[in-house]
Amino acid sequence: HSTSPMVVVANRLPFVICKNSKTGELTRKYSAGGLVTAVAPVVVETGGLWVGWSGLHLEDGISAIPESSPDDKSPTAGLRSDQVIPVNLPRKQFDDYYNGCCNACFWPLFHSMPDKAVFEEDKWEAYVAVNEEFAKLTMDAVHKCYERQPDQVPLVWIHDYHLMYTANYIRNICNDEGLKVKMAFFLHIPFPSWDIVRLFPWASQLLQGILGCDSVGFHLEDYCINFIDCCHRILGCRVDRKKRLIEHNKRSVSVHPLPISIPYDRFVQMAEEAPEAIKNKNEQQLLLGVDRLDYTKGLVKRFKAFERLLELYPQHIEKVTLLQIAVPSRTDVKEYQELKEELDQIVGRINGRFTTPNWSPIRYIYGSVTHDQLAAFYRDASVALVTPLRDGMNLVAKEFVACQIKEPGVLVLSPFAGAGVTMQEALQVNPYEQNQFAKVIHRALTMPFDERELRMTQLRRREKIRDVNFWLREVLKSVDSLDEACDSKL
Ligand code: UDP
Repeated sequence: HSTSPMVVVANRLPFVICKNSKTGELTRKYSAGGLVTAVAPVVVETGGLWVGWSGLHLEDGISAIPESSPDDKSPTAGLRSDQVIPVNLPRKQFDDYYNGCCNACFWPLFHSMPDKAVFEEDKWEAYVAVNEEFAKLTMDAVHKCYERQPDQVPLVWIHDYHLMYTANYIRNICNDEGLKVKMAFFLHIPFPSWDIVRLFPWASQLLQGILGCDSVGFHLEDYCINFIDCCHRILGCRVDRKKRLIEHNKRSVSVHPLPISIPYDRFVQMAEEAPEAIKNKNEQQLLLGVDRLDYTKGLVKRFKAFERLLELYPQHIEKVTLLQIAVPSRTDVKEYQELKEELDQIVGRINGRFTTPNWSPIRYIYGSVTHDQLAAFYRDASVALVTPLRDGMNLVAKEFVACQIKEPGVLVLSPFAGAGVTMQEALQVNPYEQNQFAKVIHRALTMPFDERELRMTQLRRREKIRDVNFWLREVLKSVDSLDEACDSKL
């Protein structure tokens, strides 16, 4: 694949930096994720750099990036400190940008929940300022690339809704300095329809920010269609919907559907090695939910549907347990605190209503579990409930099928998750209607072996081929196809 040095620009570095409060010593703390596992080695191999927030603030006075420790076996161990550019921001500015704009506005808006979105000018201004800071630091990275490999045009790859306004700055600086770069952007959440995007008071600036790139990637064809439509209707760009091209400032920007995935083989291996999840399995069936505690995940509706299941089909009483893992998220945002309260109440109410001396219907974990435990739950569950109201992709659906190495279970999947588009052999459910939802869960719990096996085999076959490395290759291909266009333009 491409030998261009890859500069990844993301809200976060692929590890956080921890400062020992007594000695002041800085260490790296790696947090495992499929994306970093796939992308970090490419940055290392191509001699690129990673630009992102370190987890500390300007006030913390961080001076340098620590080298990885000798016993570091993580995928980022090969990333030298001179390949990492930390973004340090004042605490208040970071909070306005990250919580105020990204999480309180873009997150709900892009998940088509505009009623939850807070629009505030000062938060948007912080977002713009932070994106400009990211752009300046990315230019440091670009300069380093040219010093180290003068013959290679660097590939700047910008990630996600935190940095939609960065590319345009980078392009302007590069034009001023006469530097060539290839620029790609990938959005990890949905891109909503024009009718939602236009609610954002600074929508045209936002779109122009993204159009600073040469290549823009989304999970789904539908998100591509929405983006192209917005550029046409809000900015008045000429577009070619068939070829997925947008003309902007006499350049053409290509748009690509690139559905992300998981490190499939790693999950299979974890499932093979993980200990039994459930002791005493006699006649007990496990329904599993694994989500960040987020209103997009539809947890309230899921619990209510489960309650309806127990009303409509009392044969499941004492036979089925719903194990829900809700990973704490954005706990300093009010919306999330209120949702937690609501979930605590619903779980308490349903358990109070149905619990018998030997059984409780819901086991609710507010917290995270180890990868071992997670793989064991995925492997041993009879049914996984992946029923978000809206989700860019949803990796849990894919991790579940990867781990299904024993008795085949059933995936119940919302069509409003990106994964719902390709994982056609799942049982689809519209989470908005309780009776249907309960009936689908019942069908999943009572599905004959042959049907379960057939569906699961197909699901696993697809995910094995289309894993995260496949995704990365497709991304690089979509950028490589820029080479000629890029050379002829400049
Ligand atoms: N996950 C985790 N710890 C847990 C439970 C889940 O790290 O205790 C991971 C899970 O393996 C998955 C991710 O969290 O990779 C959730 O990704 P998804 O795309 O489903 O949703 P997101 O949280 O990105 O909206």
